[in-house]
Amino acid sequence: MQPEKFDAVVLGGGIFGCYAALYLAGKGARVALIEKESQLFQKASLVNQARLHGGYHYPRSIATAALSDEHKERFTREHRQFVNSSFEKYYAIDRFGSFTDAGQFERFCQYLKIPCKRIPEHPLFNYQRLEALYLTTEYSFDPVLLRNYYVNKVENSPNITVQKSTRLESTTQSAGSWVLTFREGDLQQPGPLAPIETPIVINATYAATNAVNRLFGVRDLDLTHEISEIAFLTSEQFKNKGLTVMDGPFSSIMPFGLSGFLSLSSVAYTHHKISYDNLPHFDCQVPEDPSCVPAAPGICTNCPRRPKSNAYKMLRQMQQYFSDAAQFTHWFSYFTIKSKLKTSYIDDGRPTDISVLSEKPKLICLFAGKVNSIYEIEKIV
Ligand SMILES: Cc1cc2nc3c(=O)[nH]c(=O)nc-3n(C[C@H](O)[C@H](O)[C@H](O)COP(=O)(O)OP(=O)(O)OC[C@H]3O[C@@H](n4cnc5c(N)ncnc54)[C@H](O)[C@@H]3O)c2cc1C
Repeated sequence: MQPEKFDAVVLGGGIFGCYAALYLAGKGARVALIEKESQLFQKASLVNQARLHGGYHYPRSIATAALSDEHKERFTREHRQFVNSSFEKYYAIDRFGSFTDAGQFERFCQYLKIPCKRIPEHPLFNYQRLEALYLTTEYSFDPVLLRNYYVNKVENSPNITVQKSTRLESTTQSAGSWVLTFREGDLQQPGPLAPIETPIVINATYAATNAVNRLFGVRDLDLTHEISEIAFLTSEQFKNKGLTVMDGPFSSIMPFGLSGFLSLSSVAYTHHKISYDNLPHFDCQVPEDPSCVPAAPGICTNCPRRPKSNAYKMLRQMQQYFSDAAQFTHWFSYFTIKSKLKTSYIDDGRPTDISVLSEKPKLICLFAGKVNSIYEIEKIV
């Protein structure tokens, strides 16, 4: 088959791939957006804690904290209808085993000029476990509404061709362009899909970043991968509130955008399995199921071999920080692979790493640390 020509190809239909495709299409480029799964936005962009980071979360990484704060305003302004900005967001310091104490946290907030008001007493919280409690300004975005918005935008853009259930098979170079061949997303055999010729490829495949980089013959990013669970709860007493306990193996609960659910995660129990390999290798990947392999991981929530929920353990851990007045009900959990740069073990930072790994033809690798850093794309694409 003759290759079809595009100005750019974006691999990966999460929020970063969709934003990159829309940004290029807005500049007049003809873009192909390629997604392995049968729907866009099924992985990290849907299954996350939906925290619109304002910096508070990174007292050990000033760089990540400053970057979060830099993009927060623009993200909020441009996604206002998908942002919950009307809940009380508390941060607290655990009395036992925290990497940060109250004084350090206050100095850190002052340095970043982010509001944090100490709350000396509150009937919902258990001060025997909390060194200090702060009322802060932090919002949450709604991943489901964001998905609907971005899917609708890319699918209706006249400059973007969306090709789902498709994954990259091989790459070659010809006269300053990439020639890409594809296979069907879940199948072992190459599908009857036309190759594409393009001078620019953007790799926005998150957990599959290294598998895709290897098809272009460029370097790996040093990554770890964790099968992660976000538990969804409701609570009469806590419905318009969020609490994040800092700084170590603690937990966080907050409104999941505008959904009416609270999302709960815990550093100790959210992550069920860890892969220290640069590709996400897990023992639940089996040869009979080609929809999830280290080179092309699948959708964990839909997987019959997903881990047993830790929601009960997460909730028990979280309830230590509340008085008996606060009651919660767990409804369901979502699972996905969370990928991190290995360097984040030092400072718990979540930078967004955007690298140009080949100049001509161009290969740009986008590895996203957090959702509101989508605008970093504009600095380089
Ligand atoms: C548990 C968890 C909690 C988080 N909490 C927060 C938070 O509170 N706030 C925050 O800002 N960020 C959070 N994050 C980080 C944030 O979710 C990610 O940084 C962001 O969603 C990554 O977006 P993406 O588009 O790069 O990746 P994804 O949404 O994972 O999209 C990548 C896409 O690439 C596709 N793909 C893979 N391989 C191929 C291939 N070969 N060909 C074509 N397509 C392919 C995948 O199917 C997928 O659709 C969290 C992440 C996790 C996992």
